[in-house]
Amino acid sequence: MSRWDAPGPVLAVVGAGPTGVGVLERLAANAAELAGGGRLTVHLVDPHPPGGGRVWRAAQPSLLWANSLVADVTLLPDPSCTVEGPVGDGVTLAQWIDWVGRHLPDGDPVGEEARRLTPTSFPSRPLVNAYLSWVLAGAVDRLSPWADVVVHPRRAVDVRSDADGAEVALDDGTVLAVDTVLLAQGHLDAGPTAGERALAAAAARHGLTYLPTGYTADVDLAALAPGEDVLVRGAGLAFVDLAVLLTSGRGGRFERDADGVLRYLPSGDEPVLHVGSRRGVPYRAKLAYTWAGPPVPLRFLTPAGIEAAFGATRRLDLQADLGPLLARELAWAHYAELFRAAPERTRLSWDEFAERLAAAGPAAARRLVAAAVPDPADRFDLVALDRPLADRWFPDGDRLQEAVRQHVRADLTRSADPRHSSDAAVFVALLQSFGTIGALLAAGRLTPESESEQLTGWFMNLFSYLASGPPGPRLEELLALSEAGVLRFLGADTQVVLDEEAGLFRARSASTPGETPARALVDARLPRADVTATRDPLVAALLARGDARERVLPDPTAPSGARRTGRLDVDADLRVVRASGLPDPRLLALGAWTSGPQVAGFSRPRTNAPFFRTNDALARRLWHSLAAAGRPVAAEVA
Ligand SMILES: Cc1cc2nc3c(=O)[nH]c(=O)nc-3n(C[C@H](O)[C@H](O)[C@H](O)COP(=O)(O)OP(=O)(O)OC[C@H]3O[C@@H](n4cnc5c(N)ncnc54)[C@H](O)[C@@H]3O)c2cc1C
Repeated sequence: MSRWDAPGPVLAVVGAGPTGVGVLERLAANAAELAGGGRLTVHLVDPHPPGGGRVWRAAQPSLLWANSLVADVTLLPDPSCTVEGPVGDGVTLAQWIDWVGRHLPDGDPVGEEARRLTPTSFPSRPLVNAYLSWVLAGAVDRLSPWADVVVHPRRAVDVRSDADGAEVALDDGTVLAVDTVLLAQGHLDAGPTAGERALAAAAARHGLTYLPTGYTADVDLAALAPGEDVLVRGAGLAFVDLAVLLTSGRGGRFERDADGVLRYLPSGDEPVLHVGSRRGVPYRAKLAYTWAGPPVPLRFLTPAGIEAAFGATRRLDLQADLGPLLARELAWAHYAELFRAAPERTRLSWDEFAERLAAAGPAAARRLVAAAVPDPADRFDLVALDRPLADRWFPDGDRLQEAVRQHVRADLTRSADPRHSSDAAVFVALLQSFGTIGALLAAGRLTPESESEQLTGWFMNLFSYLASGPPGPRLEELLALSEAGVLRFLGADTQVVLDEEAGLFRARSASTPGETPARALVDARLPRADVTATRDPLVAALLARGDARERVLPDPTAPSGARRTGRLDVDADLRVVRASGLPDPRLLALGAWTSGPQVAGFSRPRTNAPFFRTNDALARRLWHSLAAAGRPVAAEVA
């Protein structure tokens, strides 16, 4: 075992993905003002190379893309950010591509890709990794007058702290003596749930293949044989990754025919994927254009609107109370942009329409829209958007395939057409609403059930479906796979059972008669974030000793009197809360896996994103506490 002491204050950051890098960047930015006393040592711990970390690591097929447009990603704050620390102009992913990526030498795959990308392309994950690594290198460089950053390519397995300091144990036996630890561990792996274990055992009894939830790039897909029928539960982003790895990843190619239609040329090594989900269709395509705005200000989901509707104190049910307000908000954004950008497609002045829409109940609003917006394609109907196959029945599977393909084609055409900029306004309104809901969560205004179930369930699912779907080119590939017979859609409300008698999985749906039997099933989803189910040794050790706890919400309406959130409990200063209820002043945690601020993905440039505000405030607190640490020097490596 080796022990690593350093003179001066010491910070350990566990997890070197976007969150960890974002905090280091803010530490660097605030150093000139706040660094005092001895030279800081920062230990950056991650088994994956720092910068991209696990999700964005270079060592994964460049076939896997980000589902964010090049133009929509920044890890550096810009002048829109209202933070206390200094901000520069920010270098966005798009600028990095122009200034750095394109000039990488011939033969460097990132350079080759960068030269092909435009602001409305979707970058590969290895290219995003190169940007994140560049941001990290810049932060380390800017920190160098005040701090040394030491990278440990290891997993942290435990943290212990007391009044004198803290120790971080790494999986090679190294112990880092530190003053403060920041856990930025992001997407934690989960052990199988009881249901997954039972299904895996039953599948094994019958010699069937079952691949449970997981991070697709890490799942071993070798068990899925060429030509084999494979049932897939989930039509979101994990499914898109799965389809890519099992088709292009197995040597298949896409080519455009003379009519410009994308065709799939199979390699013969791909299985046949039968995909089903509650909606039965893939997520909506990411918009393929950038929208200059102006964004439509929120009108209903504002503090004043919420107080007018529900008073200032009552706990709110996310789905029952705020769901209808959200639907009104999105409709409002849609029509405000339609009337602004395309008044010739409307029959009233915006002022008159707006006044009547704001006052109307659901039925009156429908009548108003029917009279004022002649083209049904220009009307907003959240229910129909959300469940496109609801109430539709197809006499056979082939007709279902054609209907889903038509749906995807229509979505693709629309998502690339700035004439429908009202969709972009809805997207921005959804992002803004996300902010409002986050603020209500932080203020303790949501009911325990909303916080524990509806937020990650109903709301995030709707958000992801509408606003965080796959890149358009991916949907075009799914269409080509479907035309080639490599991919088949099972329909809405898909159910899969294991038929013990026949020793087969069977899938059926609410969209078409009949069943699809198969010997393989994949659950194409990330595991539910749950700190109590994680295989991460560090988090497990903290919970086992009572040095940390899951955030659990008392709720007299729940059968057990409480609701679990699956998230690590942190206080308002991001200090990890012990089982005793007291925060640990030396142990902090940040990221979507904690009860702190929820950042779902990359920040968009010029949006004063919460990511930067949280990181800046945290970095400043860290400098204050580290500058005051004044630990004795005991430099020794044994
Ligand atoms: C498959 C996938 C695709 C995504 N695509 C997009 C996208 O296209 N656009 C978007 O905006 N967002 C996307 N996201 C969301 C993603 O959460 C964020 O982009 C971002 O990666 C979150 O950063 P993070 O640092 O909080 O977590 P992570 O990126 O998960 O990084 C956490 C790091 O902590 C390390 N770690 C964990 N435990 C330990 C330990 N015990 N010791 C040491 N290190 C540890 C991990 O190795 C990892 O590198 C995607 C997420 C996933 C899972």
